Amino acid sequence: MFADVALPVPLDRPFTYRLPSTLHHRVKIGSRLLVPFGSRKMTGMVLATHTNQPEGMVKEALRLLDEEPVLEEHLIWLGRWIANYYCAPIGEVLRVMTPLSGEMRSSKMYSLTDAGRDAARQLLFDASAEDPTIQVLRLLEHRSASLTYLTKKIPDAPKALKSLLKKSFVELEETQATRDPLRSASARLRIQSTGTPWTTEVKLKKPERELLSYLDLHPGTHNLAEVEAVVPGASQAARALARRNILALEVEAPSISPYPYKPPPTLNRHQEVAFQAIRSAVESTQFASFLLQGVTGSGKTEVYLRAIEATLAVNRNALLLVPEIALTPAVAGQFYHRFGDRVAILHSAFHDAERAEQWRRIRKGQARVVVGTRSGVFAPVQNLGLIIIDEEHDGSYKQQDTPRYNGRDVAVVRAHNANACVVLGSATPSIETRYNVERGKYTLLQLPERVENRPLPEVELIDMRQEFLETRKQGTFSRRLLTAMSEKLEAGEQVMLLHNRRGFSSFVACRSCGERVQCVNCAVTLTFHRRDRRMLCHYCSYAERVPTVCPKCKSEHIYFLGLGSERVEDELHREFPEARIARMDRDTVSGKRHFETILTGFRERAYDILVGTQMIAKGHDIPNVTLVGVISADIGLGMPDFRAAERTFQLLTQVAGRAGRGALPGQVLIQTINPDHYAIHHAAAQDVQAFYQQELHFRKAMRYPPFSALANILLRSEKQEDALRMSSEVAHLLTPPPENIKVIGPAEAAVPRLKNEFRYQLLIKAKDRRALNTTLQSLRSYALQRKWNATALVIDVDPLTLL
Ligand code: ADP
Ligand code: ZN
Ligand code: ZN
Repeated sequence: MFADVALPVPLDRPFTYRLPSTLHHRVKIGSRLLVPFGSRKMTGMVLATHTNQPEGMVKEALRLLDEEPVLEEHLIWLGRWIANYYCAPIGEVLRVMTPLSGEMRSSKMYSLTDAGRDAARQLLFDASAEDPTIQVLRLLEHRSASLTYLTKKIPDAPKALKSLLKKSFVELEETQATRDPLRSASARLRIQSTGTPWTTEVKLKKPERELLSYLDLHPGTHNLAEVEAVVPGASQAARALARRNILALEVEAPSISPYPYKPPPTLNRHQEVAFQAIRSAVESTQFASFLLQGVTGSGKTEVYLRAIEATLAVNRNALLLVPEIALTPAVAGQFYHRFGDRVAILHSAFHDAERAEQWRRIRKGQARVVVGTRSGVFAPVQNLGLIIIDEEHDGSYKQQDTPRYNGRDVAVVRAHNANACVVLGSATPSIETRYNVERGKYTLLQLPERVENRPLPEVELIDMRQEFLETRKQGTFSRRLLTAMSEKLEAGEQVMLLHNRRGFSSFVACRSCGERVQCVNCAVTLTFHRRDRRMLCHYCSYAERVPTVCPKCKSEHIYFLGLGSERVEDELHREFPEARIARMDRDTVSGKRHFETILTGFRERAYDILVGTQMIAKGHDIPNVTLVGVISADIGLGMPDFRAAERTFQLLTQVAGRAGRGALPGQVLIQTINPDHYAIHHAAAQDVQAFYQQELHFRKAMRYPPFSALANILLRSEKQEDALRMSSEVAHLLTPPPENIKVIGPAEAAVPRLKNEFRYQLLIKAKDRRALNTTLQSLRSYALQRKWNATALVIDVDPLTLL
């Protein structure tokens, strides 16, 4: 019996091992095995078991690491699909899929081989005790040890190990140990007395005694961190006592802040139609795929909730994916109200131990409704009946590192494989998804109206060129926007202002020589952040002081250009000194909880104006907002990216949709110098269909997706000539281009240098998927064969950005 095993090595294929007879029935697909690899031992994951004797020498697997497979068979299947489709190493894919990777600690242990043991014995008496090689041999005689440990004892250990490995006196074993969640420093733990009488225990330390007295006085379960504040040393004491079974220690379930209960509304006509379609699909136990296209405020979430109820009713389970930023306590709260403890929330703010706990509940089938972000698509949901992807157009579903998968597309594949129903929801579906409706791949369900007959907000474009002609001022706010804001503030209503650019000024330039201050690691200008008094790179976080003279010609005539959200806030304070203003962008929001604090504050009317980047546009439902202003709709339109128009349209439509969601009607003012651009005027008309038609036209003419399968190829190196050479080798390899393939480039990437690496780019457009995949796989084999650095060749299939 043999097992094909994926190993964490750049070689991109499974390795076959013979299974000793003791393992025949225990090894399953998804189990982890310890196997020999070269001179090392490594942990790999079983992709398949079979009886086909491979050619050549086959080594034997050493040990099975867990009785229960870490990944179930259908997830292994999904991982292999991802590895193939996105041209990513299977090891990397399995790594991001492996549930408790935070809990998993890889350890490298050195131990003596039989030969090493013999050598150690012989050397004992006659060798110099100073020789680090001898010292290492002696240390390892009675135990195996990690490099850290050895180096602490013997500073020269690394060198000694190298020579010992070469002589085969020492071997290296790489394992992945599962960390005990109770020992993880970040875990939130609950403690409770087990009722074991302890007063007669003799060997209790002072904090242990104090902790037990505390628990006697305060029966019940406690949060360990809170007890620590009262009983110093409680954490350590609790762990020691738990080991002796005197008290019980468990990982606390994640806490979700309470959310006001809202009774479920009666579905309106459109919601009802959509819901019934999804329900019968779920009940049919066949794959079905829907696009739920509903205008902002049309009540899509309610349709999701009902569809999930219907799924549970037929004893199947459901998975809902939401964009990273949209997973707020408000959303989580809604799900807890509906489904109670059948819900598992996979929240990035949770600690590893909490996440592990959720994962276990899902796997055991205790959690039947799973809400998560991108990687939630890998949750081990049992008996899957329904997957919903909310805001399916959202860019956060695409992972920007290897494996560069799109969680939405993986979800559709998973649903298909599970005979489940999949629902993609959005007010502004991606062009690909809309096109899939047209091609008959997805069934369209529409919610064309807002709930309770609320009108869509009225949108007005403000031509900033005209404003300039009339006022002779390059102001941030038009007169129209200022007037509208004062009216709303006077009426006690709330305002949201979008400015999709961080920082104070986006660049600093010299009037004398024209120099722009650039990042030392990247070919981009630095952004001035006033609060930090720093120039920051938005790509690599490099920071430097604000120059007072030109770094190139020493002229004092330097000026700050380009408006950022920090400066918008600053000017708002000047225009409306009385108003309470909050800003939300990556500089004011450091963590998840912080984001929620600002949002909750705004919802509870602690602020009158919320200004921010695209973060403010995503899905928030704040009834008292009656005015949404866009400072400049033009940011992003000029990006050298074929999705620039689509993204601009989606952003403007989404942010406009934040207005007038309560009883009061909403108004939207969009400032622009491109009022005639189709992305902008269709967004103003909130006419998805018209935009879609025009954009499809453009994509078709240019042979961009969905009219071709696209991949972006990057060649990266710290040495420019290497990057350049690799890119011409790739170009050469693709000349003449394979059938059905069109190659654009090589050229310098849009950002030619990033994080100290030079970057060259090729675009590959293919008529069909198979042609694309074959071509990309051939590039990968070429890179492997030429032994290029593992990170030199980047393949991005279905790229969302070409930067
Ligand atoms: P969308 O996601 O489509 O923008 P939401 O799902 O956030 O819209 O719904 C907007 C609001 O309308 C929510 O507060 C929701 O509770 C409410 N709602 C949903 N369906 C109905 C309905 N049939 N009647 C009344 N209110 C509803
Ligand atoms: Zn200068
Ligand atoms: Zn940089």
